[in-house]
Amino acid sequence: MALLVQKFGGTSVSSIGCIQAVAEKIAISRSEGHDVVVVVSAMSGETNRLMGLAHEISDQPSSREIDVLLSTGEQVTIALLSIALDEQNCPARSFTGAQVHIRTDSAHNKARIINIDAARVKKALKAGEVVVIAGFQGIDEDGNITTLGRGGSDTTAVAMAAALEADECHIFTDVDGVYTADPRIEPKARRLDVITYEEMLEMASLGSKVLQIRSVEFARKYNVQLRVLSTFKEGDGTLITAEDEGMEQALISGIAHNQDEAKLTIVGVPDQPGVAYRILGPIADANIEVDMIVQNVGVNNTTDFTFTVNRNDYKKALGILKNTASELDASDVTGDDRIVKISVIGIGMRSHAGIASKMFNALSEEGINIKMISTSEIKVSVVVDEKYLELGVRTLHSAFNLEDSVDLGG
Ligand code: ASP
Ligand code: MG
Repeated sequence: MALLVQKFGGTSVSSIGCIQAVAEKIAISRSEGHDVVVVVSAMSGETNRLMGLAHEISDQPSSREIDVLLSTGEQVTIALLSIALDEQNCPARSFTGAQVHIRTDSAHNKARIINIDAARVKKALKAGEVVVIAGFQGIDEDGNITTLGRGGSDTTAVAMAAALEADECHIFTDVDGVYTADPRIEPKARRLDVITYEEMLEMASLGSKVLQIRSVEFARKYNVQLRVLSTFKEGDGTLITAEDEGMEQALISGIAHNQDEAKLTIVGVPDQPGVAYRILGPIADANIEVDMIVQNVGVNNTTDFTFTVNRNDYKKALGILKNTASELDASDVTGDDRIVKISVIGIGMRSHAGIASKMFNALSEEGINIKMISTSEIKVSVVVDEKYLELGVRTLHSAFNLEDSVDLGG
């Protein structure tokens, strides 16, 4: 018998029928003898609907009131699910974030969990009840309702699993696991049985939107065994866990892509100390995040400097860079917002050379020009023209034999 935390996202509880199906699933886990703590999101679309209501009244509604408003979405689901569980003869009790003492800081709309008092949950479990907790919400020191940022129910679930020392944290969603590439782009993509926290963090930050990134960071910190599964389809999903020394590591676990970036170049700036700072300082001051940075070798005492930002910040960054260009007497500013970053990710890469050259070779054979390159311990990323998204992902997926299952269990 295990202690399980099971989280159901918005699409899993999008109608009364879905909520009843979820209740049946939970009742099965109970009948197998497991203790179950459930975390739910708002019904799909509800958080956006509530947000829309606030924006009908004000362009800049108070962040405190937004939290009061948005947290109601999850409160509806915990009550409905608990009623559905009772109907299944599976005694259940719902709790808001405040009721189970999910203490956060006071950063409304993006609060961080500071502490959870698991005693109340443990008491209800002891009484034989399924505990149903509202995701995404907490309470600050002064008793204000806070929320954890969009997708925050994942983080509630993982934090709860950590606080309760649960055996596993199951994230039920509308996909049945983490794939070697986005299946909408590469139909041959394969579901992974296991992936490490590090790899998942790279996948998530590169645009595989299966889990809120913060929940994976949390899981890594507290070593929570995290499993992504489908609400609608049977299966074991993908286990996200720590690296296992004994495990034969696949060289590459997946190909991720990110279409949310744009690149900017300032051409012919003086090749001298302080220039990088003068270029990126004003960008940072405008709260624009920079991802990749490349500076060329200087010729004739000048150099070119290229970086990427989120596409939403492209125009703003271009304006700032044009200012900097005139201050630095640069010869030109160019930009491109029709790019895609494609990355090969794998923890096995640490101990193997040749990944990058294999990657570049595969892309060149398809005539795909690489515009930027960056590497880390467990990934190699390239920026290419957006029109090569599909071709690039599929080429790399097959170059690294990702469609060949190594799982002999079938
Ligand atoms: N309901 C919130 C959202 O839509 C939190 C969540 O779903 O995890 O972002
Ligand atoms: Mg969600």
